Amino acid sequence: MNFLPIFMVVKDRLCLVIGGGEVAQRKASVLVDAGAVVKMVAPEFSAELTSLMGIERVAQRFQPGHLDGVVLVIAATDDHMVNREVSELARARNIPVNVVDHPDLCTFIMPSILDRSPLMVAFSSGGASPVLARMLRGKLETLIPQGYSRLTVFCARLRHAVKTGITEPAMRRIFWENVLEGSIAEKVLAGDEVGAEAMLFDQLKNRDKQPCGEVYLVGAGPGDPDLLTFRALRLMQKADVVVFDNLVSQPIIEMTRRDATRIYVGKQRNNHTLPQEEINVLLVRLAREGKRVLRLKGGDPFIFGRGGEEIETLSAHGIPFQIVPGITAASGVASYAGIPLTHRDYAQSCTFVTGHLKDGTTHLDWERLARPNQTIVFYMGLHGLETICTQLISHGLPASTPAAIVQQGTTQNQRTYTGTLATLPEIVQIEKPNPPTLIIVGGVVALREKLNWFHPEKPE
Ligand code: SAH
Repeated sequence: MNFLPIFMVVKDRLCLVIGGGEVAQRKASVLVDAGAVVKMVAPEFSAELTSLMGIERVAQRFQPGHLDGVVLVIAATDDHMVNREVSELARARNIPVNVVDHPDLCTFIMPSILDRSPLMVAFSSGGASPVLARMLRGKLETLIPQGYSRLTVFCARLRHAVKTGITEPAMRRIFWENVLEGSIAEKVLAGDEVGAEAMLFDQLKNRDKQPCGEVYLVGAGPGDPDLLTFRALRLMQKADVVVFDNLVSQPIIEMTRRDATRIYVGKQRNNHTLPQEEINVLLVRLAREGKRVLRLKGGDPFIFGRGGEEIETLSAHGIPFQIVPGITAASGVASYAGIPLTHRDYAQSCTFVTGHLKDGTTHLDWERLARPNQTIVFYMGLHGLETICTQLISHGLPASTPAAIVQQGTTQNQRTYTGTLATLPEIVQIEKPNPPTLIIVGGVVALREKLNWFHPEKPE
């Protein structure tokens, strides 16, 4: 270890930044964030830089007297002589000094920081590769959500209560570990601090009782794992049990925790492996056993996902849950097919419709759907495609209206077939696309010719 990592108190202390350019300004603003009183010294300051609150600018060349009363100094000038002079004088006075990009002139170096104040993570490669340190920080950005800031404050607020409630230090450590790995922390991260606090006091009182598990209803997006949200990924790696159906792509299932139990509950058209009611009951039972249950759904759970029904049952049984939105098929598939869902010249609105009604028919409000200047996206429409096209035409849409069907959008098996309301049914008969498929109808479909950008491995 070549450096001692420490976090230094500079609140209300005078810090000096030598230099008037962008780098100097950046360093000065980090110091301001840490509560320092900052003085910048330079013969002149870049005109583009706006002056920041808490920074005094002194338009002079650096003089030794500028170091008086200073607890820390950073030199960020392009004049090597000045940088060297600052370094030597500061060292002689035992003032910590950093000269940007000159490790040999420094007595401290600035790390790359991940700021979830009061939680701070600092990275340093000891000057070897600042880019590497920044890249690592980027990786951790995704693992340590913004909400950790609130979580840390939450812990600080309840620390005293827990300390009084559990006097034995080892027991207290276990209690906090459970809080931070379980529902309470998740509740804080999801923004429900009131609920989290109530739960913490409840667990503090009933420590010998097995706490109830919880259910995460998570949208997995349309297929490409890169389209998962950070929160989805975090919960996927935390869950004890994963309950999924066939819309969730295999690579995404592979990303769930290795030792989690995976339960397939099927659901293909008219071939439900488990009826919806049984899925609802299964989720309740698993959570009652104290498990963290991940209910993973294709796309977004609240768009044709029956997420509402599953949550209603959980809520009726008092099971804690949270819902994580996902990219719905319409949005993901349209992007990957190069079809904008709205466009000022073609469509001022967009409607998502199911082509498969509860009673098994496709009786839709055709009058409304056949209005001009809109895009219609049909989920579960493959089976009723013929009816969809005929009805739209007979209710007034021109037979030449562009229409597309996209198979397994956003995955390496994506295929897009374009035609018109008149030709699409025949194209489908010939090409026999594999489910899941999405149908997009409207003038915007024609834009694909210019905007198609996604070329999966097997050419479309
Ligand atoms: N909750 C999901 C939709 C479930 S309904 C969501 O928000 O996306 C199932 C229908 O979604 C399928 O019949 C199909 O029309 C559509 N779908 C889902 N994923 C798809 C994909 N990758 N490509 C094409 N259509 C898809």
